[in-house]
Amino acid sequence: MPRSRSLAQTAEPIRPVAPTTSTLITSPSVADENALPRCPRSLHVAVSTGPDGTCSSDSELGVGPARGRTRHFLPRNYFFGNTSRVRQFGRIRASASGSNSTQNPASGSARPMYDCVILGGGPAGLVAGIYLARLNRRVIITDGGQSRASLIPRSFNHPAFPDGIPGRDLLTRMGAQVQKLGVDYIAGCADRVEQASAGFQCMVAERTLDSRAMICATGLVDILPPWRDATELVRKGNLRICPICDGYEINGAAVVVIGHTRRALKEAKFLLSFTDDVTLATLGVELQGVSAADVREPVRLATSPLLSHGPTADGRLMLELAEGRRLEPVAVYSALGCRPRSNLAASVGVRLDQEGRIPTDAHQRTNVERFYAAGDVVTGLNQLGVAMAHGEIAAVAVHNDLLAGVAL
Ligand SMILES: Cc1cc2nc3c(=O)[nH]c(=O)nc-3n(C[C@H](O)[C@H](O)[C@H](O)COP(=O)(O)OP(=O)(O)OC[C@H]3O[C@@H](n4cnc5c(N)ncnc54)[C@H](O)[C@@H]3O)c2cc1C
Repeated sequence: MPRSRSLAQTAEPIRPVAPTTSTLITSPSVADENALPRCPRSLHVAVSTGPDGTCSSDSELGVGPARGRTRHFLPRNYFFGNTSRVRQFGRIRASASGSNSTQNPASGSARPMYDCVILGGGPAGLVAGIYLARLNRRVIITDGGQSRASLIPRSFNHPAFPDGIPGRDLLTRMGAQVQKLGVDYIAGCADRVEQASAGFQCMVAERTLDSRAMICATGLVDILPPWRDATELVRKGNLRICPICDGYEINGAAVVVIGHTRRALKEAKFLLSFTDDVTLATLGVELQGVSAADVREPVRLATSPLLSHGPTADGRLMLELAEGRRLEPVAVYSALGCRPRSNLAASVGVRLDQEGRIPTDAHQRTNVERFYAAGDVVTGLNQLGVAMAHGEIAAVAVHNDLLAGVAL
């Protein structure tokens, strides 16, 4: 039976490392309203869509698409800040492929030929960028700015931070490292990826990037309850997503798991590791793949629709059910599933599993030569450390495979 603990005081948050130089192109993107940070309406954004929620169009925000160059689109980009000046391909680095030239032999154009384009600038993509840059590879990261890590109020399970660290601070630190290494960066969602004779072409807001290899580190989108403030509640820690990440902090409190599937029931049972008081709440949705009889004590079932919800002063939630019950305060987990952002990978023939995630070998290789995948978009455990390790492994595999001249 779980016992209450007195939680240690948290230390002062670690200050983001100030960026040094930046090599940066910006292009726009906006956020999935239900899952991601929103863009300020005053900034220019362009359209960049994906059926699996990769990047949503600005029509959702009621903002007309803008053409051309933009300033930063995030309220506070986690690592480049609001004030970075835009510079295109500002630094030309010695390349492990032996060329410093910006000439692209594949296209005959002046476009640079990258050793690797990294789709996604969350922990997986940033770490891959760091490793590839330090292998003297010419690399560019294109990022939609919607990392799940940016939603972590403070992670207490990430190794080396005994007092925890906010997800944004981690991203800021990794971003500073990427900048210091002169990695090229586009703040924007890739719209299209195609195979080309020399590797891949990636289209990002009317630009084309050529590369010999590609790492897909596009993560996934959490499906949240259909509440206007759902993302904000996640960012503040009132609405939780990952019991492995923060179940330990529940400390014996009452828990409600929102969901109606077998997986949600599994999550409810998992939470018994941290508390004896767990309710599976379907919020009026019919159970799927599981029956009421499968929900056994000590897990309880609440099937009634939700009348209202709201944050409580202690950082938890109040749920008012139609049957007249009021659950307050409760630690609430959303167990409604997720959508992997794997459509670009699939478009070049990458095989997906049943859930839309990308299976890889032990070196993060997919079934498509020189196309690698890392982080949450890959099958397995969705954790910061795992995403970072995937990024490291993928980067080294890219380097070695390019050295070995793996054929397309
Ligand atoms: C609320 C919450 C709390 C969490 N707490 C913890 C914790 O305490 N400990 C822990 O270990 N893990 C935690 N996690 C999980 C952790 O955040 C993820 O495992 C990690 O962020 C995965 O990294 P990633 O790089 O694979 O994906 P992400 O961090 O999601 O980054 C993917 C990036 O790819 C970008 N992208 C998507 N499509 C495109 C495209 N077409 N072109 C360009 N860019 C694109 C996205 O915009 C995004 O920036 C938590 C997650 C959440 C949501």
